[in-house]
Amino acid sequence: MPYAIFLMLVVFNVAALASEHEVLTPAEFLGFQVGADRKLADWKQISSYFTKLEKGSERVLLREIGKSTEGNPFLLAIISSPQNLNKLSTYREIQARLADPRLVGDDLEDLVERGRTIVLTTCGIHSTEVASSQMSMEFAWKMATAKDQETQEVLDNVIFLLVPSLNPDGVNIVAEWYRETLGTEAEGSVPPKLYQKYVGHDNNRDWYMFTQKETRLVVGEIYDQWHPQIVYDIHQMGPNGARIFVPPYIDPYEQNVDPIIQAQIIDLGGFLFSSLVTSGRKGVVTNAIFDAYTPARAYPHYHGAVRILSESASARLATPISIRADQLGQGRNYHGRKSSWNFPEPWEGGDWRVRDIVEDQMVALRATLLHASRNRKSWLKNFHTIGQRNLDRTEGPYAFVIPKKQRDLEALYTLLGVLDFGGLEISIAQDGFTPGNPVCVSPPYCREGVVSFQSGAFLVYLSQPYGSFAKTMLEIQDYPAVLQYPNGPLETPYDVTAHTLGIQLGVEVYQVAEPFQVSSMLADTIERPTGTVKGEGKYWLFSHSSTAFARLANRLLGKGYRVDWATYGFRVDGVSFPVGTLMARIDSLGESEIEEILDGIPGEVTRVSKWPQLAWQEINSPKIGLYQSFQSSMDEGWTRWVLEQNEFEYRTLQDQDLRSGAIQDLDVVVFPDQLPMEILEGLSTPYPERFRGGLGLEGLNSLKEFVESGGTLLCLGSSGGLFLDQWSPEGLREFKSQQSPLNIPGSLLKIKVNARHPIGYGMASESAAMFVNSPAYEVGDAIEIASYPDDEELLVSGWAEGQSFLRGRHAVVEAPIGRGRLVLIGVRTQFRAQTRGTYKFLFNSLFYATVD
Ligand SMILES: [Zn+2]
Repeated sequence: MPYAIFLMLVVFNVAALASEHEVLTPAEFLGFQVGADRKLADWKQISSYFTKLEKGSERVLLREIGKSTEGNPFLLAIISSPQNLNKLSTYREIQARLADPRLVGDDLEDLVERGRTIVLTTCGIHSTEVASSQMSMEFAWKMATAKDQETQEVLDNVIFLLVPSLNPDGVNIVAEWYRETLGTEAEGSVPPKLYQKYVGHDNNRDWYMFTQKETRLVVGEIYDQWHPQIVYDIHQMGPNGARIFVPPYIDPYEQNVDPIIQAQIIDLGGFLFSSLVTSGRKGVVTNAIFDAYTPARAYPHYHGAVRILSESASARLATPISIRADQLGQGRNYHGRKSSWNFPEPWEGGDWRVRDIVEDQMVALRATLLHASRNRKSWLKNFHTIGQRNLDRTEGPYAFVIPKKQRDLEALYTLLGVLDFGGLEISIAQDGFTPGNPVCVSPPYCREGVVSFQSGAFLVYLSQPYGSFAKTMLEIQDYPAVLQYPNGPLETPYDVTAHTLGIQLGVEVYQVAEPFQVSSMLADTIERPTGTVKGEGKYWLFSHSSTAFARLANRLLGKGYRVDWATYGFRVDGVSFPVGTLMARIDSLGESEIEEILDGIPGEVTRVSKWPQLAWQEINSPKIGLYQSFQSSMDEGWTRWVLEQNEFEYRTLQDQDLRSGAIQDLDVVVFPDQLPMEILEGLSTPYPERFRGGLGLEGLNSLKEFVESGGTLLCLGSSGGLFLDQWSPEGLREFKSQQSPLNIPGSLLKIKVNARHPIGYGMASESAAMFVNSPAYEVGDAIEIASYPDDEELLVSGWAEGQSFLRGRHAVVEAPIGRGRLVLIGVRTQFRAQTRGTYKFLFNSLFYATVD
């Protein structure tokens, strides 16, 4: 070797060593190997490691894309070759054009040639599934430092977007609890609180309502900026089956998922499967357990991307477990001890630890990137084709039409906001028009015989790149039931079976099959308008049919104004106001104060100078106690979120507050949906003493005293069963699905509402509610507020078996007890903050509790 070349090599190697030296391995940085027994890095450690990795590597860029719910930095690591990282805006532009084929022109071949496959990997959405956020450090380090040809190819062909945790707050909540209990009998238990401030495990059901900060960051700052082709979401499951699941999923797929996406899931999932098996990993299963039905989880499937997930068997947080072969059981479509085509090599049992999970996940993630790299052009082409197929639709519907005039404007703007944030184009009709045969897709909220629409109606044309998202969100679901055997019972769906937005929100929506002509303009942005005032005078009237009534009432009461609601409908100056209309007395108010009060409250306040003489009832700011079990209930978290968004103040009540009776100052105590036994008995061993014991008899007694002396006890979903069992109010009985052939695991059902009862104020007399194997009631001496009709089909969207059992029974009831009352809302009135059409049951109950 000539001397000069030798010298160059030496210099080159020294330089390489120097830069590598700055990149500590995660083990060097943390002081323990990633996935080591009984060790969990918290968010500070993980984020610090990524900061160091970015500094030491030219293959990694780290971006803080926002703050989590509790203010932690939300991080995105962008990993690719230095050449690619220097041209990110070019690649983003290529992606934006491929995502919208109308922008491609004749450049398709060129864009495909120049583009990179975008792979987004999201770790740790469920924080007790601890392995992936830990793994992310080691995998990123490997990508940042490996010198092999294969890694180089991946770096050249792929832009790898790595989110080390979709819930940084939860990483800390779990790590803190784990460290606190390490070495005690509670080691490895799940924390006695939700691991996302509001919704815990439900954070992966938020992908069309976009309520939580983390969901909005990922959609707004990653999907919208990058339009990934592949999204890999990493999970864990229970310990007693396969070691790892990878797609394809089992049936059913939701009908609007493009066949190309389904095929790509088989292709990519199959490659993960074979990569795991050929790497000698055991207990790998595919096409089992998990389906991909709901857009609440599978957002990418409606935006041109495949969403794959892996689900690994869990240890006990970071504590290893030992499983005997005979403890391995079956799951849907496989058996943990039997070899089958989709589970060729069962795991034989033994010790199982986080490091095992980390190893499996790194094989699967590596395979994902390899597939993305080797098939770069076909990923890009298919991505474009899916968008083009949406644009080229010939089958109906042609468009959805959403009239501008709605009974609940708050609901209208919430619906439009969802569509807008989900990347859809919304147009506004410039004239009135009469399309052929509009069909209502939000029964029972539509008016009869609608054939024409006024100027200003909102139009969602299906021919747009993400048309399938519009279609699934707005049409009625006909859930493709999978039966256990021919004519047999339904395989229990993995999740709810209905998501029709118009029905969930109570908005009139029509579907039109055939093309029609109307001049329309693309809406720039969709914003909830601020309310307006008309007329003069000190009496403010606001209709109760807008869900925004609650925020308005809370604001006015908070400022000390007197607010009443009307116990009958009435007319003023020829304008009719329905029962429940709010009236506030406000002597004088400047423009800016009015604006502040009406900010974000769509609708109109009518001011009149003369007091409309009829029976009014004064309402007050409710003093609310919200029960929070240490056996955490996601519905409790959602309830808190909904109360805060609607500007209710509340106090959280834990077991000791109820046992000690420190509730007598409250107007209303709310129990979220939770099983009676969980409420009553709570946690037991191995949890520390302060978390044990539930409500107990003491808690029940203090609640009884509270109600008998005039308080309101409001029970949502299953929780009411506890008080019916314990107190047996006269003639009020609960029916549960176990008592019948009833099987409605999450569908929208028709209900009839007594809108003259304060709890029904503002509701349409025919409405729809989310039923999740919910209790139904027979009333005896109690008062019915919402009922299942006894002569009509109940199902409006989703799947239902045995619905005749519900006919004539009741969904919402009130039972007087002593001087107070028990209110039972059996249906899921604020389910995952999605079913806003029934929020009024909740809000009305809270104000009703303040009425003398
Ligand atoms: Zn999970």
